[in-house]
Amino acid sequence: MFKRFSITFWATVFVGAVCVSLVAVDIWRSLSARDAQLQEMERLTSNVARAMAQHADDTIKAADTALADIVERIEHDGLAAPQRARVYAQMMVHVANLPQLAGLFVYDENGAWVVNSRNMLAPTNNNADREYFVYHRTHAGSEAHVGEPVVSRSSGKWVIPVSRRLDKPDGSFGGVALATLDIDYFRRYYQSFDIGARGAVALISDSGVLLLRRPFDEKRVGMNLRGTEVFHAIHDLRAGEVSGSGFFASPNDGELRLNNFRRLEYYPLFVTAALSKQEMLEHWRHDSFTRSIGAVVLAALLGFFGKRLVGQINLRAQAETELRQARDALESANRTLERLAMQDGLTGLANRRQFDVTLGNEFSRAMRHQHVLAFVMIDVDYFKQYNDVYGHSTGDDCLRSLSKLIRALTPKRPGDVVARYGGEEIGILMPDTGMDGALAVAERIRQAIVAQNTPHSGSPFGMVTISAGVATLSPQRGVHLPGMLVEAADKALYAAKSAGRNRVLAAPPIVPSAPPPPPGA
Ligand code: GH3
Ligand code: MG
Ligand code: MG
Repeated sequence: MFKRFSITFWATVFVGAVCVSLVAVDIWRSLSARDAQLQEMERLTSNVARAMAQHADDTIKAADTALADIVERIEHDGLAAPQRARVYAQMMVHVANLPQLAGLFVYDENGAWVVNSRNMLAPTNNNADREYFVYHRTHAGSEAHVGEPVVSRSSGKWVIPVSRRLDKPDGSFGGVALATLDIDYFRRYYQSFDIGARGAVALISDSGVLLLRRPFDEKRVGMNLRGTEVFHAIHDLRAGEVSGSGFFASPNDGELRLNNFRRLEYYPLFVTAALSKQEMLEHWRHDSFTRSIGAVVLAALLGFFGKRLVGQINLRAQAETELRQARDALESANRTLERLAMQDGLTGLANRRQFDVTLGNEFSRAMRHQHVLAFVMIDVDYFKQYNDVYGHSTGDDCLRSLSKLIRALTPKRPGDVVARYGGEEIGILMPDTGMDGALAVAERIRQAIVAQNTPHSGSPFGMVTISAGVATLSPQRGVHLPGMLVEAADKALYAAKSAGRNRVLAAPPIVPSAPPPPPGA
């Protein structure tokens, strides 16, 4: 089936396939580079979230340990004046050791300031309105509580409150111990991550309150995130799962980011680390664009030169076809010339030259196989008169029709040949044919011509007739020559003419009159 298509077709297919695969490979490479970039994003956000969660856990834990220490002492020793001084000293040691601590505070059951690391005791100040105070007053548990960020009444800075409840000996509410965490401490740490210009990280409470976010915006501190996609994703985490990720559009700036969120180990908080999808893919996009231009240019060049190549192949194929056609035409012309050279122009019979060649060949063959060779020599009677009466052109027509008839009545075995021997003389050579067979052929021809009854007013018969002489020979090497057969038939023809024409006569057996020439002479 492949032969049905030309070499040009296959060359075009090849060049086309190379161009297409070039572009396809580039697209595939580009898509896998994009995948790799997204995976890299996933890994980066996951690492940042892990570091943030660890940091937040450690930071809060240290402050909480200090707090637990103070709660234990107060519950054990009470808060009389000397004990207060010792608590204060203890607070100062903690604050000096923990850079994240903005301050440590103790409030009595009414919210009044009792002791704090700032050594400020303003009797008018009261913190009974704070969220953490209300929480502990209404919750009996001894666990730490991480509250919403507030602006400190003592320092004026943003702080995250971590608090524990103080119990009186009878178990009733005895006040609150509070550690405030400096938001700047977190900010400095969050600032150290390489999350691009449009990345974001955040610390969020379990209840959906935004504690801190980079980029930092004071107005967003304490913001409620409960309705956001991230918050839903966080809350969809199954029990035991600590982290997850997803693409979310930010409720703050609308940016689509890959978010990785992670639960803190010890406190009811979450961290999220997010990278801008667009920003992360910018490098990939730029890279892909440049490479695509390269691939397209390459494909175009290949297409251009491929087209030229196909053109060249086409030209060559055309030239080859033309050459083949010219050769075929030449061969056919040669065959025609050959045929014409062996054919008589008027009658279409073999000409004298072909007759001589065939006679030579058949004579040798008959000699080899000990066969009889027959020859009939036919001559039209009174043909000069026919020309005189009807004209030369009608004479030609008569010759043509006689030739056709003679050929039709002659056997068509290989080696049989009907030739125009001379002007209006026709010879029939029949290999492997005896005298009887040859006479029968000649007689059949003579009768057929009589039966045609072609008018000939110049003949005593009133019609066109022929005379024929028939000779046969079983040639022997060194005894006979081809000319002897023709000569014998010619003599028999002459005899037929003399005997009155319109008849067939057999030649007597051929006897060589003179010794034949020595072989090779
Ligand atoms: P016959 O054979 O009966 O003795 O008498 P004839 O008139 O046929 O004598 P001959 O065979 O000697 O004459 C041959 C004549 O045939 C001479 C010529 O006018 C004619 N002839 C030979 N070739 C052609 C030819 O090609 N065309 C035509 N029209 N006539 C030819
Ligand atoms: Mg003649
Ligand atoms: Mg004649």
